[in-house]
Amino acid sequence: MDFTAIKEKADGALMPTYGRFSTALEKGSGAVVSDSEGRTLIDFGSGIGVNSLGFGDPEWAAAVSEQAARLPHISNLYFNETQALFAEELCAAAGMSRTFLCNSGAEANECAIKLARKYAADKGTKKPMIVTLRNSFHGRTLVTLEATGQDAFHTDFGPFTGGFVYVPAEDGAALEKALEDGACAVLLECVQGEGGVMPLSPAYLQLARRLCDEHGALLMVDEVQTGAGRTGRFLACEHAGIRPDVVTMAKGLGGGLPIGACLCTEALGTVMSAGKHGSTFGGNPVVCAGGRVVLSKVTAPGFLDEVSRKGEKIRVRLQSMPGVRSVRGLGMMLGIELEKGDARLTAERCLENGLLVLTAKTLIRLLPPLTITDGELERGLDILEKVMAEQAQ
Ligand SMILES: *Cc1c(COP(=O)(O)O)cnc(C)c1O
Repeated sequence: MDFTAIKEKADGALMPTYGRFSTALEKGSGAVVSDSEGRTLIDFGSGIGVNSLGFGDPEWAAAVSEQAARLPHISNLYFNETQALFAEELCAAAGMSRTFLCNSGAEANECAIKLARKYAADKGTKKPMIVTLRNSFHGRTLVTLEATGQDAFHTDFGPFTGGFVYVPAEDGAALEKALEDGACAVLLECVQGEGGVMPLSPAYLQLARRLCDEHGALLMVDEVQTGAGRTGRFLACEHAGIRPDVVTMAKGLGGGLPIGACLCTEALGTVMSAGKHGSTFGGNPVVCAGGRVVLSKVTAPGFLDEVSRKGEKIRVRLQSMPGVRSVRGLGMMLGIELEKGDARLTAERCLENGLLVLTAKTLIRLLPPLTITDGELERGLDILEKVMAEQAQ
């Protein structure tokens, strides 16, 4: 089918929830993908940070295919070796003790929120409140939407269940006040992704850790976008030298299949006791087989240094481009503040020129596959530079 036919069918049968770009992608390899019109595109978006190993990584594809042919799904009524190995390897990579496996970032945060409320209930807290930050993003389910500190997302979806207090990022006094008022947990992103690639300072993250310790509250870090090597460390919180009580992961962890994980420390390991939570698909063997390949590659010696090197290389190139006001982010999670022009239109111009990029608020956001080659990077940056130069005129 050509693009027009595909678009017509999609527009007729899907709820119109997405503002899509005008391309129907067909086949990819590494950081290069082709569309229904035979165009070749360089991918600087990774399907929103999901395709951490690029398209069609041979080891990943082999592990997933082998597992799909052997035993695709069993439910969580039974044990499975692939799931057990993945869970153990994930905990080791993240420096945590236990994990609950689910299917998305929102679900991972749902688990974290339930864990915090159960932890508070076990201590006898009557109305446990969770602190989140203004401009955060934690998901689209009703409770994660409520946790998301952006009023625009809340419009039309009330009533909400309550239980969240919002404080501005980097405001230590506001955080302290919320914890003094008895909040049981803090949930935050180390780099606010959807909020416009806003990194939180290491000093603020360290303060959050200290305040949570002082008030017996849990520090829960949403690493759904920043985790699994995206920022040059396995977890972005490692840059600040902090260890959270709870970590949530998703996007890049599965290398392209739906995955979510809520991890916790040994002390919290049995808060979510038998019967308290569950997921039919969570920890599916096919997804775990893919996740194991992601973990083995991302934790291999030198891999994260390469992520940092490539992230720095992109940053340097961007800073010398016309029309770039500033560049922010960590590792291979970068946001470009434009001198002028609209981010969405810039992204459309990139597509027309053969490059897939993302936006976040008014910024262009780049989340290239972690395995992108220097050659692919340069080709993509050349296209971006051409678009920026045209736009700066
Ligand atoms: C994408 C994202 C989510 C939601 O993940 P889904 O898989 O879409 O449910 C939650 N938190 C952060 C920080 C994200 O970037």
